[in-house]
Amino acid sequence: MSGSGSSARRMERAVAQATAAGFTGVLVTPGPDLVYFTGYRPTAITERITMLALTAGREPVMIVPALERPDAERATAAVSLTCWDDGADPYAAAARLLDPRGRYAVSDAAWAMHLLGLQRELPESRYVSMTAALPMMRAVKDAGELARLAAAGAAADAAYEQIVGVRFAGRQEREIGADLAGFLLEHGHSQVDFTVVGSGPNGANPHHEMGERPVQDGDMVVLDFGGLLDGYGSDTTRTVHVGEPSPEERAVFEIVRHAQQAAFEAVRPGVSCQEIDRVARKVIRDAGYGEYFIHRTGHGIGLTTHEPPYLVEGETHPLVPGMCFSIEPGIYLPGRFGVRIEDIVTVTADGGRRLNNTSHDLHIVA
Ligand code: ZN
Ligand code: ZN
Ligand code: ZN
Repeated sequence: MSGSGSSARRMERAVAQATAAGFTGVLVTPGPDLVYFTGYRPTAITERITMLALTAGREPVMIVPALERPDAERATAAVSLTCWDDGADPYAAAARLLDPRGRYAVSDAAWAMHLLGLQRELPESRYVSMTAALPMMRAVKDAGELARLAAAGAAADAAYEQIVGVRFAGRQEREIGADLAGFLLEHGHSQVDFTVVGSGPNGANPHHEMGERPVQDGDMVVLDFGGLLDGYGSDTTRTVHVGEPSPEERAVFEIVRHAQQAAFEAVRPGVSCQEIDRVARKVIRDAGYGEYFIHRTGHGIGLTTHEPPYLVEGETHPLVPGMCFSIEPGIYLPGRFGVRIEDIVTVTADGGRRLNNTSHDLHIVA
């Protein structure tokens, strides 16, 4: 967050988007949405309801447990607070902020018990999850957010430059993953969310994180890692090879590299999300590996490492300058090896700009 000015602007924009989409308002619960609007992160997210209500024509108001009022006040200059005491019915108090017949977009991570409590109080109110209701609410990043995402990307790149210098052959995947996590922290990450080290056949499973398998000479190794720096996410993948690769390994690697490049070059305002997926998929399909590209091409990134926009067939939203997402095609040959290359890319007025800038050459490690 950069002060209550941007907080107020974000809340106004969300109300406008909600109104345009036919919603009465937006209900924001602790997590990335609440951080986005107010900067407030309750120290613990608990059974006591905290909820910000954004409604057209009304001042933003947040209901908080009375005992958390001092923390909430310190964090949120831009909203007024209404408190409820232990022993009072929090849903009766929250319901007074809502239209009894309202239709609200609600943070994806809102607790079911809180929504069910509201529904009990206001049986004619209706609720739709934020990703379904207003998927692009946080998708277009402002300058401050872009700077943080770029810094997170640069730090992940620095971690990659270090990891290719460590010993791979003879060490377990999880030892290399621990090195990677250490490098991310060294370069300023406050939190490491994932370190995938998929060697040899493990690289063919995109969900494989890392295990005890010792990496061997001749292995392809998928390295996919990221976390949070200054509150914003990093996420990058490079595939390296231990020793000299076979001609087939090189060929598969080049197909993925071309798919990633073609998708990157297709990025510009107005192009649909699904079009970027189609461009990457076509390169891989035309090369004969279509059935081995088994996931979407990318996902948005910001306060979380997976969020809209999703680059996937069926997602027709147009790209808008300021959006940030991964482009990460891959080929996975079961029982053998996998290749994936992933950069975070932001949309500018005239194309895409990468926030990961390490080489796409097949790096040979020891
Ligand atoms: Zn090999
Ligand atoms: Zn990734
Ligand atoms: Zn990713």
